Amino acid sequence: MSYDYDLFVIGAGSGGVRAARMSAGNGARVAVAEGTYLGGTCVNVGCVPKKLFVYGSHFAEDAEDARAYGWDFEGGPFDWPRLRDNKTREIERLNGIYRNLLDGAGVDIKWGRAVLEDPHHVRIGDEIFSTASVLIATGSWPTVPDLPGREHAITSNEAFYLERFPERAVVVGGGYIGVEFAGIFAGLGARTTLIYRGAMFLRGFDDEIREFVAAELDKKGIDLRFSTQVESIAAHGDARHLELDSGATLDTDLVLYATGRTPNTRGLGLETVGVALNERGGVLVDEFYRTSVGNVYAIGDVIDREQLTPVAIAEGMCIANNLFTDKPKRTVDYDLIPTAVFCQPNIGTVGLTEAAARERFGSDVDVFGADFKPMKHTLTGRDERTLMKLVVRRSDDRVIGAHMVGPEAGEIIQGLAVAMTAGATKEQFDRTIGIHPTAAEEFVTMRQPRSR
Ligand code: FAD
Repeated sequence: MSYDYDLFVIGAGSGGVRAARMSAGNGARVAVAEGTYLGGTCVNVGCVPKKLFVYGSHFAEDAEDARAYGWDFEGGPFDWPRLRDNKTREIERLNGIYRNLLDGAGVDIKWGRAVLEDPHHVRIGDEIFSTASVLIATGSWPTVPDLPGREHAITSNEAFYLERFPERAVVVGGGYIGVEFAGIFAGLGARTTLIYRGAMFLRGFDDEIREFVAAELDKKGIDLRFSTQVESIAAHGDARHLELDSGATLDTDLVLYATGRTPNTRGLGLETVGVALNERGGVLVDEFYRTSVGNVYAIGDVIDREQLTPVAIAEGMCIANNLFTDKPKRTVDYDLIPTAVFCQPNIGTVGLTEAAARERFGSDVDVFGADFKPMKHTLTGRDERTLMKLVVRRSDDRVIGAHMVGPEAGEIIQGLAVAMTAGATKEQFDRTIGIHPTAAEEFVTMRQPRSR
């Protein structure tokens, strides 16, 4: 039977665009449906605008720090509309680049919400397309829990387009998105509170890193309220009034919920077609991203594994390889995924946390660490510290975890992730010549294990 397409991708985000382009490059006839914006979450309301805001939020401190280096800057008022609109222009430029990439690869872009009619037919409005295979790459969407006054809260989606910048902001949530937004609001001048229901935020990160970051954010004036829940939100004009479970109340100008993202599977027709979902609505897939329906695949946030752009992209590369080449089938190695949190200072991390390593390898674990004042602040006097940590399996000397809190931690950890992917040992780290004077050189000069 001949189909209109070999592959119909639903969702032109990080994963979908990569899978579509690479599949077309491998000779497949490909279409991609997009209901909102090219580039998906990462380009439009995720990684890219977030990082631009993070850059913006550093300048107040940079201007202060510059004084110790002989520079006096006129501290002008912060102009939110200028940052917001410059960011939006850059996003629009990137939307155009994504369109050119897809056009250049010969992928047909179909605008509109796509729905699966059956495993081989996709409907967009009145049009129906037939396809040999379908790829679900519809991402995820932020959700605000059911609580009185939830309509007075915003999510990260709206935070990128605020009409006015708030004087006071409350961020609810202890994941990386919440922590990053707390840093952005505080850095741009809002009195910021971060509320998290657990005892310590950033679950899943190394415990020492979590404590260290909490101390650094506290020094920057972010009001951290752990073991706290919001019971209700009321609107008083433009202001928001929060009742907390402790009995305390909080008045603010903006409430941002970053308490989780739900896989985008509603209304896609998956139930009709018989695609199995997990309890959160995520699409269940095997190791090669095949769903319970043989010719339907899924990648990215919608499969509810790692919600990170490079992971969605890597999964998209696997699809293009597995469906449209004769090369051996590929899957993503989820064990060594480096990641950064762009709080201030940044977190960079790859591999096992100390606790996970001890749980898996017991006493066969050495931990090396360094905790110091960054050189820049020897002049500025700013009370900010850097933490670095290596987790090593003693029996084979393999470095199995690297963690850092400090300026440009993400940039530094990316290089270590290459070494660790190649199986580097602690002895090889030690033989590596440092680059002096940098913070990164500490990773190759940690001689004495801090704990065994
Ligand atoms: P998406 O990029 O979300 O793309 C899905 C696309 O599908 C969307 O464009 C959507 O409009 C479209 N779509 C959905 N349903 C349909 C339909 N029925 N028909 C047609 N189109 C449809 N990751 C990082 O690695 N680093 C970061 O620093 C980072 N920061 C982030 C900050 C924030 C605030 C957020 C929210 C996320 C961040 N992420 C980050 C996560 C990253 O953005 C996602 O993991 C990534 O975008 C997932 O890619 P995806 O292809 O699965 O989905």
